[in-house]
Amino acid sequence: MQTLVADHPLVAHKLTALRDISTETPVFRSLTDELVTLLAYEATRDLDVERVSVRTPVAEAEGVRLARPMPLVIPVLRAGIGMLDGMSRLLPKADVGFVGLARDEKTLVASTYATRLPADLTGRDTFVLDPMLATGGTLVTVFEMLASRGAASMTAICLLAAPEGIERVAQSFGDDAPIPVKVVTAGLDDHLNERGYIVPGLGDAGDRLYGEI
Ligand code: URA
Repeated sequence: MQTLVADHPLVAHKLTALRDISTETPVFRSLTDELVTLLAYEATRDLDVERVSVRTPVAEAEGVRLARPMPLVIPVLRAGIGMLDGMSRLLPKADVGFVGLARDEKTLVASTYATRLPADLTGRDTFVLDPMLATGGTLVTVFEMLASRGAASMTAICLLAAPEGIERVAQSFGDDAPIPVKVVTAGLDDHLNERGYIVPGLGDAGDRLYGEI
């Protein structure tokens, strides 16, 4: 598994504002949106392309387009929904699947309550959107769903990751994984606290995007 921590002044600037407890929901949403677009640029770097030629007003030009089948983007409900627009801006033709997982706040174990994915993902690159890679339990569950459907590659885009979460995903999808597996994040934080929150983190991403319900 490859981990990429985006090293860019704009990413660092926006991430700092996102962490700030005084950043209110409307700004938190737009910062998330902008950050995801920046991360998506890195995350899609290895997408396959096919050669095409187009006619310009002047002459014929050789170029490329994204290879088919188009990638599948999977926001993890609920907080991943806040990342979908930022991703779709770069991949407007990608299909979108959905997975809903809820974390038991005592055991920190995630259970699946909704799945809407194509049965067959053969040959498709997949991008999982989940803002916080904390224990890694959710991401491992989603990656297992995608791998069992034949995905060609799996990339998670996260705003923040904890070392514990990276380690857990790497244990399940290590260097011997049969397909490329990648985590792209704006920041790799220090540790998880006893409640499973990333430290220093940004708090509960779902609550900050959508309020405490
Ligand atoms: N989920 C969150 O929203 N925040 C964390 O810090 C960990 C998991």
